[in-house]
Amino acid sequence: MLTATNRFGLSLAIPSGIKKTIREQSGFGCVICGIGIWEYEHVDPEWINCEFHDPSNMTLLCQECHSKKAKGMISIKAIRDSMLNPFTKRPSFYNKFFNFNTDPLEITFAGHTFHNCKVPIKVDGFPLIEILPPERSGYSIRLSGSFCDSDGGMSLYIIKNEWRAFSEKWHVEVAGHKIIIRGKQGLIHLIIVAAPPNGILIERIRMNYGEWTFDGNIDDLTVNGSILSEISNRNSDTGFSFNTDRDCKVNCVNSRI
Ligand SMILES: [Zn+2]
Repeated sequence: MLTATNRFGLSLAIPSGIKKTIREQSGFGCVICGIGIWEYEHVDPEWINCEFHDPSNMTLLCQECHSKKAKGMISIKAIRDSMLNPFTKRPSFYNKFFNFNTDPLEITFAGHTFHNCKVPIKVDGFPLIEILPPERSGYSIRLSGSFCDSDGGMSLYIIKNEWRAFSEKWHVEVAGHKIIIRGKQGLIHLIIVAAPPNGILIERIRMNYGEWTFDGNIDDLTVNGSILSEISNRNSDTGFSFNTDRDCKVNCVNSRI
């Protein structure tokens, strides 16, 4: 895939070592408000006018604060002040989503509890949702997911908390101990509830992938219109795993539909 470059030949792709420096210096969250799902931001100058990915000019901003910066509702000075004193590094900061340790996670979803689970749903070997412990103890869990719009095209990727939306219609809300991801017209695609120190509850999931349609809540998971039942394997880092067979019939390798 081609990656855009600016007039100085600087790629939009930021080297992983520089990304790690930015995450560390920003406290693994938006420097303004602390939300743990964010974008890498070149503050001033913006990327289009940068010759280098310079960490001293870069930070983490959530979708909301990024949008406010673009509209001039947050000043460059306010962002620079927060870069010196990131929200999640302030002594008064407390957020249940930043209160996990690095032990294995236990994910509760659709009537089942998966211990040491990283991937609640996997399809044809592809993790549709992945949840990892924090990169650094005391900070946010790491969430990855691929979300389709109603036309079936992937239009939102979250990769270890980095927000990569290809349209404006996606929205993330962190309300107390919940992360809520909404798509077009406010439709909820994912609700994750934190139960520190190691519990995660998936309260709602609505996702499409290829031939598969998933609709789940605390009690049930409906796959292509049928309610899933009888999990036989609970001891892997994957919760529900599905494979499409040669006839393109759907089946679940660790359950029966
Ligand atoms: Zn923010």
